[in-house]
Amino acid sequence: MRKIASAGPFITEKEVKYVNDAVKNGWYSHWGDYLEKFEKSFARYLGVKYALATSSGTGALHVAMTALGVGPGDEVIVPEVTWIASVAPIIYLGGRPVFADIERDSWCIDPKSVKKLINKKTKGIIPVHLFGQPANMSAIKRIAKEHKLFILEDAAPGLGSEYKGKKAGAIGDMGMFSFQGAKLLVTGEGGMLTTNSRKLYEKARLFWDHGRNSKSKQPLWNITIGYKYKMSNLQASLGLAQLEHIDELIRKKNEIFFSYKRELEEIDGIELNLMPDQKNIKKVYYMTCMIMTKKFRLSRDELISHLKKNDIDCRPMFHPITKFPIFKSQRKQNPNAYFISGNGIVLPTPMNLTKKDVVRVCKTIKKGIL
Ligand SMILES: *Cc1c(COP(=O)(O)O)cnc(C)c1O
Repeated sequence: MRKIASAGPFITEKEVKYVNDAVKNGWYSHWGDYLEKFEKSFARYLGVKYALATSSGTGALHVAMTALGVGPGDEVIVPEVTWIASVAPIIYLGGRPVFADIERDSWCIDPKSVKKLINKKTKGIIPVHLFGQPANMSAIKRIAKEHKLFILEDAAPGLGSEYKGKKAGAIGDMGMFSFQGAKLLVTGEGGMLTTNSRKLYEKARLFWDHGRNSKSKQPLWNITIGYKYKMSNLQASLGLAQLEHIDELIRKKNEIFFSYKRELEEIDGIELNLMPDQKNIKKVYYMTCMIMTKKFRLSRDELISHLKKNDIDCRPMFHPITKFPIFKSQRKQNPNAYFISGNGIVLPTPMNLTKKDVVRVCKTIKKGIL
């Protein structure tokens, strides 16, 4: 039986052509051609003034938080259910992550929970558009404005989603994306930082490139200590090719989701990451995730093993961050986070998944739990 991967990209001749061209010609005076094109096209796609390509999404978050001024003693509010990359850079900078619960329906950060966590040390909020569902940005923006907090959108899972006429990643002070191999758009590894603020862009750019002042008459002139988070031209050539058919990438992910929905919706006790239609909000079904809301024959972890035994790779949902021993002291059992995450499985959604594969995955699930 063919092995079904948990994720993977859609690569066409265009990608091969651009990467080939970058390998052959992307050097000397052409070392940055694809990089510039990728950043400009991405900014245009998103509807923002500035985009800065990075070597990873984590790097984009680190540079963004540096530009936003996160420092020792500052608290930053993040949802309890996310990838560790939204959290770690706060700690790199000496700050403290504070964990908000998620909403029961959207599975994204709960503004009511955020409100309760704000104090004098709070510096900003990082909403995560989990699995392509935009977080409740109107409420987050109101809270941020009232308490003068920054908003940094972790839009790594939200590429292509729209919220009230704006694209995810174009709503807060800054936004970021990841192009790691399991994401919607891939560059191997890589990321992007987005903003409409010239000031934040320039600050981020400074820390992105070793603290070099690009405006100095003296080349290679460092005015502070920065990091090295630039994307390479080679990776950008792959990213540009992917971006040029992003609507196709989105359509494929949405089709996968709705194939799963058809197969699983009749099972009582299975819930998918399907929020009822919201006005003015466009969701991209970047990942398909199911939660088991009642007791089945197999537990969540047993079901994952059962799928793996049948050559179907899948993963548990992100663990609640405070479940990790290193965050034990902050454990306060955000109930929705623990419930959704504890019962969730991210189903395989590689771009090469066929309708027949979906039927096979769902048959295997049904055989396991019913
Ligand atoms: C993938 C991801 C990132 C960043 O990932 P990198 O692997 O560093 O590119 C950040 N946040 C979330 C929610 C992610 O899924």
